Amino acid sequence: MLTDKIAVVTGASRGIGREIAVTLASKGAVVIVNYNGSTAKAEEVVKEIQAAGGRAEAVQCNVSDFSEAARLMEYVVKQYGRVDILVNNAGITRDNLLMKMSEEDFDAVLNTNLKGAFNCIKHISRQMLKQRSGRIINISSVSGVMGNAGQVNYSASKAGIIGITKSVAREMASRGITSNAVAPGFIDTDMTAVLPDAVKAAATEQIPMKRFGSTRDIASMVAFLASDEAGYITGQVICVDGGMAM
Ligand code: NAP
Repeated sequence: MLTDKIAVVTGASRGIGREIAVTLASKGAVVIVNYNGSTAKAEEVVKEIQAAGGRAEAVQCNVSDFSEAARLMEYVVKQYGRVDILVNNAGITRDNLLMKMSEEDFDAVLNTNLKGAFNCIKHISRQMLKQRSGRIINISSVSGVMGNAGQVNYSASKAGIIGITKSVAREMASRGITSNAVAPGFIDTDMTAVLPDAVKAAATEQIPMKRFGSTRDIASMVAFLASDEAGYITGQVICVDGGMAM
């Protein structure tokens, strides 16, 4: 159980982040449902959690902005006194072959996926060090582990997340803070719904289990990493991908 733990989940208005928020709340955590633009969807997540007897609050913040991320963490600490669990899940794609990829699309993906995670960890690190406890869980991707044609920007951001995860683990382990990454394979969300059928079919071919995963598959791993049972696990990248990366 995660009774009374304070959890911040970035990008929790939709998809994987939404499922993580609902799952952590179902285990007793108070969940800060962060989002960027989807106010109504974030409020829906909060309502769903509250209807099930849980506690949650939606907080808007563009995590790619250094000072906005600082304000998010300051707000949570002021309101709730601490942060026990940080899940860096917010992410975007701007797929294209390298030859056609614009500088703008490269920067946008790196800024949200990689710098966003840096910003959030940076601005909660002092508080977690003071607490001498904390769980940092970063959502990477098989693309960051294996690379993927058409995703130079995204793969770089997700490989970068793995570097951050391991460095933070080394810096903070002695203070009771764990830092791990979850690397999902292809998961049914808005992000993959936009892929052309031919791309989806080719992706499915590469998955030993021959199917996409569900948001639940990822949320249950995140909940485990946030739990007391996972207290001796740090610096790891756990692939939840139907066997794709091995
Ligand atoms: P999604 O359905 O597109 O949802 C993305 C979420 O991120 C939304 O809640 C969105 O908020 C939020 N977000 C985007 N930019 C943000 C920003 N600058 N600040 C704060 N929040 C922001 O994506 P998903 O498929 O659930 O993916 C979630 C994570 O898993 C991402 O990091 C993704 O890279 C990773 N992942 C996904 C898959 C997959 O197959 N789906 C595979 C591997 C890894 P708004 O609604 O407000 O825009």
